[in-house]
Amino acid sequence: MNEEKLNAYRDLFEKMIDMTTDPENFDRDRFVAVLKDICELFHIAKGVTEFYKSVVDENDGVGEVLIDFDNGRGEKVIIKRRLVTKAKAVVKGTIYAANEDTFTDEELKKIDIMLRALLSFISRNRMQKALEQTMFYDPVGYRNFNYFMRHLDTLNEKGMIHGNTLVQINLRQFSIINREIGRDAGDVVMRKYYDRIEEIIGGDGVVCRLGGDNFIMIFKTELLDDILAIIKGYPVVYGTTEDKRVKVSAVAGVYIVPDDYVYERAGDLFELIYVAVQTAKSESKGRVVYYDKDTENRRKRILSIWRMFPEALEEQEFKAYYQPKVDVVSGEIVGAEALCRWIRNGEVIPPIDFIPLLEQNTDICTLDFYMLDIVCKDIRRWMDDDRKPVRISVNLSRKHLIDTNLLESIMKIIDDNRVPHKYVEIELTETINDIEFRDLKRVVTGLKDEGICTAVDDFGMGYSSLNLIKEIPWDVIKIDKSFLPTDEEKDSDMMYKHVVAIAHELGLECVTEGVETYGQLGILRDNKCRIAQGFYFDKPLPVEEFEKRLEKAGYDIEDDE
Ligand code: C2E
Ligand code: MG
Ligand code: MG
Repeated sequence: MNEEKLNAYRDLFEKMIDMTTDPENFDRDRFVAVLKDICELFHIAKGVTEFYKSVVDENDGVGEVLIDFDNGRGEKVIIKRRLVTKAKAVVKGTIYAANEDTFTDEELKKIDIMLRALLSFISRNRMQKALEQTMFYDPVGYRNFNYFMRHLDTLNEKGMIHGNTLVQINLRQFSIINREIGRDAGDVVMRKYYDRIEEIIGGDGVVCRLGGDNFIMIFKTELLDDILAIIKGYPVVYGTTEDKRVKVSAVAGVYIVPDDYVYERAGDLFELIYVAVQTAKSESKGRVVYYDKDTENRRKRILSIWRMFPEALEEQEFKAYYQPKVDVVSGEIVGAEALCRWIRNGEVIPPIDFIPLLEQNTDICTLDFYMLDIVCKDIRRWMDDDRKPVRISVNLSRKHLIDTNLLESIMKIIDDNRVPHKYVEIELTETINDIEFRDLKRVVTGLKDEGICTAVDDFGMGYSSLNLIKEIPWDVIKIDKSFLPTDEEKDSDMMYKHVVAIAHELGLECVTEGVETYGQLGILRDNKCRIAQGFYFDKPLPVEEFEKRLEKAGYDIEDDE
């Protein structure tokens, strides 16, 4: 090799090394140009590189083959290199020359060094990409939370965070969709819904999946109306024919980034949107909740309740109030439901104001066990005082279902208080979630084996189908008060009739909640629902009051209107 060629080689080699060791500023076009110069310098006719994720892929020929250079002059292989990386990926390179060309050993050596440098760069570059894939995408290929956080940081760095809106959504009833059309079709539907959102928000925005059927997005605020339309309902075709279609809708939290917003870290924005979407989820009808002063106050209230909870528990501020369950014919008290009241500074806080908040973490489980313990202690005391107890039901949040020790914990509380199992009933609400359903079945079956009664609470609120009720060995159905016609609607008791008939058909004991008037009591009697719970008899009572009712053993039933 003459001096001139050697200098040119050194120059190109240096350029190549500079480029491959500075991936941040890697410029593909410039790199390809350098490769081309190298090939021309050495009279290389063609250069091919290959990348395979594994040896198996290599054998199957599943990988990427790149022709880096080809001047069409020859097909004679002069160098072939194969490199297996630590992660067992395979990188290969082949250099071709024209038949008539010959190479000195020195030249071959130099070409070989270049080729090896190139292969090691390709393998590093590929690994980086694979790493990005796992960091910023979930296993099925949706962008993930990390991606979103990074995108927010980038927007901020470019001074482009204002003028955008953040939306977090939770698809409505997606487990029902999955159940009805099958999981594979469900996956297709979800993907198409996501693609549609992506299409609307375009290149400036981004949508990411947070897991399950939760998604978060940011986009230019002028697109909000279009996004809201999709959230309201978007028909997705998932098969080859038009009739295979489902309408997908979502609940959403919305945050319009105000002009004076000061960005500190991505997590702050995420917290705001989280509060909004949680509010949207907990409110049965409000589908879209904007983050504003109200949500801000709500957030403060949530935080203060979370903070107060341990102390309130310690100070015994939570009390069990008892609401009698009454035989509609004899007026006898046949049981009662224990309902939680928080007495703080002499004020009674109703469960609606704190239970949904405690349900956002596992505090609710602590509270439920605490309530069960109070109830067991009361029953024990009644027995020790030779008073006849009745069966008391305790509400358990669905949050307990993931606890694999739930059954043992319940039984321990009951047995530690030496309470006969027949005096305790557990109320749980229905579920539409597959996984929860399995847990629900396991827990209810376990309780039944221990001789503890179980009730399906708020039955008919539209969560589950009859089949699901049938598959679980419940003892009692509690019909939600929304089914009971008011005195004005007396003649429209079709739905109620239907629900009671279902309970009877399943051979379950039937309790109707929310009986407020004598007229409503009549409806229960007409439909042979034997047990009533409601203000007509009593509101939930402090324990001393309830004990007085127990002493009287029942109510005189008469028309007081
Ligand atoms: P729930 O278990 O369905 O309880 C029945 C609710 O209906 C009670 O509301 C009760 O006071 C109310 N109610 C009873 N009779 C009538 C009536 O005639 N008319 C009307 N309008 N309402 C009536 P409360 O006590 O406010 O409890 C609300 C919900 O909070 C309960 O619904 C239950 O889901 C939950 N909850 C209460 N205590 C606990 C607890 O210790 N643990 C858990 N996990 N949840 C609880
Ligand atoms: Mg209940
Ligand atoms: Mg109920």
